[in-house]
Amino acid sequence: MGHRLGNPGMSIALYFIEMSDADFFLPVTGTVMPRFAGIATFMRLPYLAPDDARAKEVDIALVGVPWDGGTTNRAGARHGPRQIRDLSTLARNVNRASGLSPFELCRCADLGDAPVNPVDLMDTLQRVEGFFSHLHGMGITPLVAGGDHLITLPVMRAIARDRPLGMVHFDAHTDTWDRYFGGSKFTHGTPFRRAIEEGLLDPCRTVQIGIRGALYNDTENDWGQQQGVRVIDIDEYHRLGVEGVLAEARRVVGDGPTYVSFDVDFLDPVYAPGTGTPEIGGASTYDAQQLVRGLQGLNLVGGDVVEVSPPFDPSGNTALVGMTMMFEILCVLADARQRRRSSLPRP
Ligand code: MN
Ligand code: MN
Repeated sequence: MGHRLGNPGMSIALYFIEMSDADFFLPVTGTVMPRFAGIATFMRLPYLAPDDARAKEVDIALVGVPWDGGTTNRAGARHGPRQIRDLSTLARNVNRASGLSPFELCRCADLGDAPVNPVDLMDTLQRVEGFFSHLHGMGITPLVAGGDHLITLPVMRAIARDRPLGMVHFDAHTDTWDRYFGGSKFTHGTPFRRAIEEGLLDPCRTVQIGIRGALYNDTENDWGQQQGVRVIDIDEYHRLGVEGVLAEARRVVGDGPTYVSFDVDFLDPVYAPGTGTPEIGGASTYDAQQLVRGLQGLNLVGGDVVEVSPPFDPSGNTALVGMTMMFEILCVLADARQRRRSSLPRP
């Protein structure tokens, strides 16, 4: 690796001069250029527009979807990508626990924000799908920063057209409600009902972890389970423990292509207060890290962290949590992509 991870004695000018072409996709190291300096990209990766010639070389794109038009109550997640980029300048390169080094395993880049229309929900769904379809056509794996949870639907429309996905879904809420306000079928409470109806998501390979909070009525959780979704509510979560939850999640999703969707309200609001729909009695950040690390070896094809809402996050701590969970997901995504490329046996 030589100087690739940064020689602290090197000047920033020399760093960029000596950077070889193979180093292009590495984060700018904080040992040469201070972390508060420069333009904030996800994890200090290079920024590439999707039509840049080098975008074709990208394995995993980190992308923002600055949109919260699916939010039914406390909005603000449209500001998530920018604040997550800012806090992600704190990220480093190697996962201490797993030893995974995602930027060595895969070429990662910040491909900017998907186009959105803040005053038109249906137009936004089309624009976001188009953006991710373009990346999918280039063979790029998406790692997305929301935005509210409805943004997962157009991402799935883009990447699950050829085959339905399984999903490991961390959330306080099932997000399988049918409709709001009379006839509105597209809100951040409905994406996975739509995804199952549209054949994007295989309910029998879907596991929802951490579900809790009061219900609108006593039958609202039934629909997903009738389709075959495995719901591990917070009481079962604590009975099983992290290892038990992981064993069950891995059994449910199996070997097929699987998406990881992480709503920050999975976490207790003491860890992630900056979100629109907090629910007390949630998981810890340490548990969340263990859970995502335990997904290593699954056939992961994309992921997101959603519902970070900076207006409710004055300390920036929820964005810090969001970016750290993105890094954890990136580690297992990069490992999965590298395994598919080299056809290594899974652990
Ligand atoms: Mn959600
Ligand atoms: Mn939620």
